[in-house]
Amino acid sequence: MNPRSALRVPLSRPSISPSEIARVRAVMERGRLATGPETAAFETAIADRCGTRHAVAVSSGTAALHLIVRALGLEPGDEVVTTPYSFVASANALLFERLAPVFVDVDPHAYNIDVDAVGAAVTTRTRAVLAVDVFGFPADWTRLTEVARQHGLALIDDACEGLGGSHAGVPLGAWGDAAAFGFYPNKQITTGEGGCVTTDSAEIADFCRSARNQGRSSDDRMHHTILGYNYRMDEMSAALGVAQLERWEELAAKREAVAASYDEQLADLSDVVRRPPRPAGAGRSWFVYVVELRPPLGRAERDGAIAALAERGIETAPYFPSIHLQPLYRERFGFRPGTFPVSEDVSGRSLALPFFPDLSLEEIGYVVDSLRAAVGALSQRRDRSGGGAMVGR
Ligand SMILES: *Cc1c(COP(=O)(O)O)cnc(C)c1O
Repeated sequence: MNPRSALRVPLSRPSISPSEIARVRAVMERGRLATGPETAAFETAIADRCGTRHAVAVSSGTAALHLIVRALGLEPGDEVVTTPYSFVASANALLFERLAPVFVDVDPHAYNIDVDAVGAAVTTRTRAVLAVDVFGFPADWTRLTEVARQHGLALIDDACEGLGGSHAGVPLGAWGDAAAFGFYPNKQITTGEGGCVTTDSAEIADFCRSARNQGRSSDDRMHHTILGYNYRMDEMSAALGVAQLERWEELAAKREAVAASYDEQLADLSDVVRRPPRPAGAGRSWFVYVVELRPPLGRAERDGAIAALAERGIETAPYFPSIHLQPLYRERFGFRPGTFPVSEDVSGRSLALPFFPDLSLEEIGYVVDSLRAAVGALSQRRDRSGGGAMVGR
């Protein structure tokens, strides 16, 4: 057996079994590599899982978000209320169409968009709300739906981290006017690169089908009726996705078991906060396992923990840096620190631990022991240096 110090633990690793390999291989042997039956099968399987009438497979989660924005007819200058605590793609999709992202802060419990703040941010130019199911924990879709109805706004779910999750018994993907999924290799299921739009609206689905394929009309291949893109998913990717979905129960159960082991082993580590605490009945789908360092530990200790774990061969990541403080957003919109205190605070103190279906108990133990040692040392160093109230926050 490896000595523990020789363990290398990546942040994520897809679970690929012989069934995925066989299905992708069969596509290559048949020779139809694009726009074929695997894509159609994948769309049917996603629509079934989400309980929606339509699913349109595309080349990435970002492409899915972009097509939704286009399908909703949003125009330059239209305001879209969204969250700063997400992967940058969720706001970038708005910038593609020169829409105005109106960020509002997140709730400190689950890091999801603060619904009260959404209502307060609506102006006469607001056209839509784009919410994210951060780390696979569902946003409050009941209240978001109410706010959208009340103000006559479109509602978009960036569910790229939420496949398999649900809110009030309704699957993510079925909330809002349309939802976007992403299938990058760290997601609940992967297609390599890939994404999907889910919706009950035939109009949105038809638009997305056409726009992913150069704006072709559905009846004449050589007629390009709208400005489109090449956002198609290829057949190898779709085949991989179909085989992954066939293993859904197994993959979801393994993710759940890894999260439960972390929960248990981290329970006595008082400097580490697990978020959100598990509320009964919340239909969480485990995407990543993110913890926060407890104040007064702050950004300096979080960065120190990432470095200390890296030295022990453990890959972690500072999920998520707040979008409004990314250089592009600072430059374009003039955002400064202090604008969204909850998002910025969580951004500074949180880190994602290695998390994937085949993470072994031994590896989890090694990660937790290493985190315990790192946080213990950093916390002592901070005490010795007399860390003042705001140092490192
Ligand atoms: C993964 C992800 C996306 C889409 O990512 P792609 O790499 O384009 O597939 C979008 N939003 C969020 C919140 C994500 O986590």
